[in-house]
Amino acid sequence: MSTESAVSGSSIPDDQKIAVVTGASSGIGAATARQLASQGYHVVLGARRTELVDELASEIGGTGRQLDVTDEASVDAFVAGLDRVHVLVNNAGGAKGLDPVATSDLDDWRWMWETNVLGTLRMTKALIPALIASGDGLIVTVTSIAALEVYDNGAGYTSAKHAQAVMHRTLRYELLGKPVRLTEIAPGMVETDFSLVRFDGDQAKADAVYQGLTPLVAQDIAEVIGFAASRPPHVDLDQIIIRPRDQASARRNVKNPG
Ligand code: NAP
Repeated sequence: MSTESAVSGSSIPDDQKIAVVTGASSGIGAATARQLASQGYHVVLGARRTELVDELASEIGGTGRQLDVTDEASVDAFVAGLDRVHVLVNNAGGAKGLDPVATSDLDDWRWMWETNVLGTLRMTKALIPALIASGDGLIVTVTSIAALEVYDNGAGYTSAKHAQAVMHRTLRYELLGKPVRLTEIAPGMVETDFSLVRFDGDQAKADAVYQGLTPLVAQDIAEVIGFAASRPPHVDLDQIIIRPRDQASARRNVKNPG
């Protein structure tokens, strides 16, 4: 049996699971959307660059929708019609700048807090009823090793990632007894557009971050998210830290090993 779904205007079988991925226009989010689609999910992809999510959605048989997680009205429009959701991947986020607290840029901090912290809050609040209604929901939040550590010049990002992670971990308690699992994914260095965004489009600066070591790629993270989603309903992978072999912590990695 299938129902006409407000998700895409197309028919989604009642037994097909639905996954929502935020920040699905590039990097980890795009790879995760592909991964979950390959596992049989109908994926609803959101990001501000609508043309990119639309293109990927048509490639993987999902639904692309414009989404700005910093904008309440955009979140409301994005979730409209989503009355059952099995997986929510809170992935939209990133860093802006790398400055000491003493000379930090308040607009950069605002961007990081609005996107990583309040963006995750808005999406999660909006979809908790649909996750519960699915009977077997999963909230994956992509935090970072920056949610576990601090490093020089990184306080804007580390404080935002700590706050995002604390909210996610609190839900593990608040949703106890409800059919919703919670998985925090805390990656180390992943080569995506992350550093390009952090350094305001400076490609040379972004490339230098990954030179001389082997960083993770987006697919490495997507496969782990796919694995967490594929566990049976009674198994909750609470927190998963994934680092490249060449990186021991946010402050310590090895360049040109051997
Ligand atoms: P990325 O390639 O820059 O992807 C970031 C994604 O977030 C993009 O799809 C972007 O889409 C979306 N986004 C940004 N602001 C948004 C907004 N206001 N509303 C909706 N979507 C928004 O970087 P990435 O590495 O894949 O980052 C994904 C997540 O992983 C982030 O939360 C990041 O903090 C985390 N992370 C990354 C690393 C790393 O080393 N790469 C390590 C640890 C954690 P649009 O620009 O189209 O809106």
